[in-house]
Amino acid sequence: MFDGQEDVSRRQVDILFPLPSHSVMVQPVKNIVIVGGGTAGWLTAGVIAAKHRGRIGNGFSVTLVESPTTPIIGVGEGTWPTLRSTLARIGVSETDFFRHCDVAFKQGARFKGWTTGAADDYYYHPLMLPQSFGQINLVPHWIAREDGRSFCDAVCPQGRLCDDGLAPKTIATAEFEAVANYSYHLDAAKFAPFLQAHCCDKLGVRHVLADVRKVNVADNGDIRSLDTPQAGEIEGDLFVDCTGFKALLIGETLGVPFKDCSDVLFCDRALAVQVPYASDAVPIACQTISTAQSSGWIWDIGLPTRRGVGHVYSSRHISDDDAERELRAYIGGAGKDLPVRKLPIRSGYRETFWKRNCVAVGLAAGFLEPLEASAIVLVELSAKLVAEQMPACREVMDLIAARFNATTHYRWGRIIDFLKLHYVLTKREDSAFWKDNVLPETIPDRLKDLLLLWSHQSPWFHDEFDRVEEVFPAASYQYVLYGMGFRTQLEPSALAGDAKNAERAMRENVTQTERLRAALPRHRDLIRKIVEHGMQAV
Ligand SMILES: Cc1cc2nc3c(=O)[nH]c(=O)nc-3n(C[C@H](O)[C@H](O)[C@H](O)COP(=O)(O)OP(=O)(O)OC[C@H]3O[C@@H](n4cnc5c(N)ncnc54)[C@H](O)[C@@H]3O)c2cc1C
Repeated sequence: MFDGQEDVSRRQVDILFPLPSHSVMVQPVKNIVIVGGGTAGWLTAGVIAAKHRGRIGNGFSVTLVESPTTPIIGVGEGTWPTLRSTLARIGVSETDFFRHCDVAFKQGARFKGWTTGAADDYYYHPLMLPQSFGQINLVPHWIAREDGRSFCDAVCPQGRLCDDGLAPKTIATAEFEAVANYSYHLDAAKFAPFLQAHCCDKLGVRHVLADVRKVNVADNGDIRSLDTPQAGEIEGDLFVDCTGFKALLIGETLGVPFKDCSDVLFCDRALAVQVPYASDAVPIACQTISTAQSSGWIWDIGLPTRRGVGHVYSSRHISDDDAERELRAYIGGAGKDLPVRKLPIRSGYRETFWKRNCVAVGLAAGFLEPLEASAIVLVELSAKLVAEQMPACREVMDLIAARFNATTHYRWGRIIDFLKLHYVLTKREDSAFWKDNVLPETIPDRLKDLLLLWSHQSPWFHDEFDRVEEVFPAASYQYVLYGMGFRTQLEPSALAGDAKNAERAMRENVTQTERLRAALPRHRDLIRKIVEHGMQAV
């Protein structure tokens, strides 16, 4: 009787939780091989190795293979506040990071000339949320006031902190903690070697300097191994393609098509230049300055020892020579003889990011123009997803890959919408570039729908943006929309009942702004102190 009962319950378990017929053939995922040693490769290595630290040396390994001859791209100086938690998670000291990577603080972006091109046309996209963002949407109240204050200044102190050249914390604030939310500007050429030393010395990542000449594919379509002249054949269970624009594994080997987005985002070239300061007393900007040009825009990033400046433009709308002339005119006298580096940009992304046992991260996955610095944050988010959802075995990898692809597609789509937003709100008509950017056929449908919605009600925190780790939340949309003069029709019901709370939040903003302006040190002074004395460790 009891035997019989056991048979029945075993059958029920089998029906509810059927084991795959090949379950005896379980192939554990133990050897992770990352190809490429740029920012994407080393961040991914660090995030995976830190997450699986206890397993490294116990049959689990993270190997990074990097060509000794192909240089990293060496640009990518603007980041998102996510980098603070990423660096903290992998165990980096923030003081060491400042000492080795020529780091400055970033508190947002200042956009000049994007709306009308007039001399006084600018707005901020700061990194702090509007006051009381979780409790009250201040947009309708700001519109109702009509007191001439910019949206950013009415709801957040950070534009004023940037105007004053102040740092977002003091020397007494602990590592990675903020008084005002911040991210970093950094020297990309120094960041990868810094991460490499940390990953190899502290996290047990194996570094192989070798050129991948051939990628060997097994009969089932998985990547089996890599052939290198320097280190022989390198086998792995999961391969991460961080080979930059080359996309050696995901593109060249597995043939995943590239989805071109140049019909939406036109910029396809960049000219980059490093500009020295006149003296080491010149203030360091605490925000990225993005200045619109006739057929693109110029980024200007202040590092402690130099500025990184670059012109991103559409070659369909301006010649390389004219683009270089605009760049040198922006820099002024000091820029006359500085060497300029030309970089092609292919706007778009892979149709599939994770195929079989290969996942693409960084430029190998795709790239959009560097407006709003969305590339490194995507690297961080992708690396975190891979590390946290590391498939236990090959048998479940395709399920994880499908999830990864869905989330990552969503993110690319939302980034494209957000970048295009900066262009569609322009009122400039002084060149074909700006006129073409507002043509309806160049605007993604979802963005068109949102603009219609927002013309009647402003975005807020629950508005569409409900995904965990949304790259650009509703607050970012508020700053850009109302910074660029977008009009939302004011409905009296939007103000009902909240007027007192809104008044209180805006008053609190004035108080907080003055308090921070009095308390925070000058940006350059704080960096100097950090390098000399260090921050308080967490
Ligand atoms: C003009 C411009 C401005 C940018 N600005 C920003 C910004 O402000 N903020 C931001 O977030 N991002 C920015 N980016 C993007 C950012 O630079 C990249 O996302 C980031 O540097 C990551 O690059 P990567 O590691 O994917 O590629 P890469 O740095 O190109 O590294 C590729 C690696 O692959 C290796 N490799 C290639 N082929 C082989 C092979 N056969 N065998 C072995 N190894 C190989 C190379 O040696 C190298 O180590 C910008 C990009 C451009 C073009």
